[in-house]
Amino acid sequence: MIRINSYYSNLSDNFLFYETKMRAERFEAAHPERRLLRLGIGDVTLPLAPVVIEALHDAVDEQARPETFHGYMPELGKDFMKQAAVTNYARRGVRIDPEEVFVCYGIGDDLGAIGGLFASENRVAVVEPAYPAYADTNLMAGRTIVPIPGTEENGFLPLPFPGLEAELIYLCSPNNPTGAAYSKAQLQAWVDWANEHQAVILFDAAYEAFITDPAVPHSIYELSGARECAIELFSLSKSAGFTGTRLGYTVVPKTLIREGRSLQSMWVRNRSTCTNGVSYLLQRAGAAALTEEGLRQSRASLGVYRKNAQILASTLDRCAIRYFGGANAPYLWLRCPEGMDSWTFFDNLMENAGIVGTPGVGFGACGEGWFRFSCFSTPAVTAEAAARLLSYFGA
Ligand code: PLP
Repeated sequence: MIRINSYYSNLSDNFLFYETKMRAERFEAAHPERRLLRLGIGDVTLPLAPVVIEALHDAVDEQARPETFHGYMPELGKDFMKQAAVTNYARRGVRIDPEEVFVCYGIGDDLGAIGGLFASENRVAVVEPAYPAYADTNLMAGRTIVPIPGTEENGFLPLPFPGLEAELIYLCSPNNPTGAAYSKAQLQAWVDWANEHQAVILFDAAYEAFITDPAVPHSIYELSGARECAIELFSLSKSAGFTGTRLGYTVVPKTLIREGRSLQSMWVRNRSTCTNGVSYLLQRAGAAALTEEGLRQSRASLGVYRKNAQILASTLDRCAIRYFGGANAPYLWLRCPEGMDSWTFFDNLMENAGIVGTPGVGFGACGEGWFRFSCFSTPAVTAEAAARLLSYFGA
């Protein structure tokens, strides 16, 4: 008889966003006259940049002609796409070798798969509140999670502390859900700790494009020693509107050696065994998004999301609600009012203001009593949400 993966019983029953969606749908079915405003899931609302659309059309046309047709792509990514990633790093003064870039269909896939490089007995430190997949993918693989709580006191930017025991560390800066972003000095503390303990950092740079503060590094490789301890994951989902188009890349430096083995070589072996390359069309789209013109065009959309963040932040100020984020990230992380827990506030806000957010506890235990607003909705929805918040809080 087949034996199933018993580690699945260590997971909570429902994925956070599935549960919020079900509650919102039930509410709408019971109140068809009410219109819910969705500030919950972090999905983009603005279209792809014109240069990306053009690249997609051109690539489709190439696939229509025998002389320009492409079959399988290289498992690790097509040269032009890897070069686009290398050039993107060079803009920040970071030198990456094309062989260190692994193109993927968005980093959600790699966040789970990369665990295949590490033994199941490793302890995994997750700086929380955190994107739920960090802990869940490791629980599925039977690893022990060591939560590192972000709190109001540490500004949701916890640092390594004496006695911390872990071999793998997940960091996301700017952070989803809190919007908090590590400064160079703070991130350096994690890099130094990882090198000292022969640990590995998985650095999620999904929100890098939202950084406005010059003290905040865009890549972990801006820090000294990071090439010896860190893997970085970069996604075009939020920076260029690729959530439904899909493209990202993972960087595994050749200088990252553990137990005498190159993790870059191991990842080459993993990807060339477990994947068959990323669609030519999407790699063309991704490379177009990372040209100067592509970045310039995407900045217009980022500006709209930033403005949404400013509107919601100033609304929370007027309502005297404590919050983090908004400045370097498209999320606001607010304290639930009147001591409500996250799910009570979720239901209360939905019922009384018709606004759907995300309960903070879904991002780890230390998120209890906190709540996330996404700033990716349209300006019209954001303006209406701001008005409803003012009336909900009686401001
Ligand atoms: N990492 C973080 C922190 C995210 O918020 C998300 C998506 O919301 C992802 C990774 C997944 O990104 P992708 O769309 O590239 O799979």
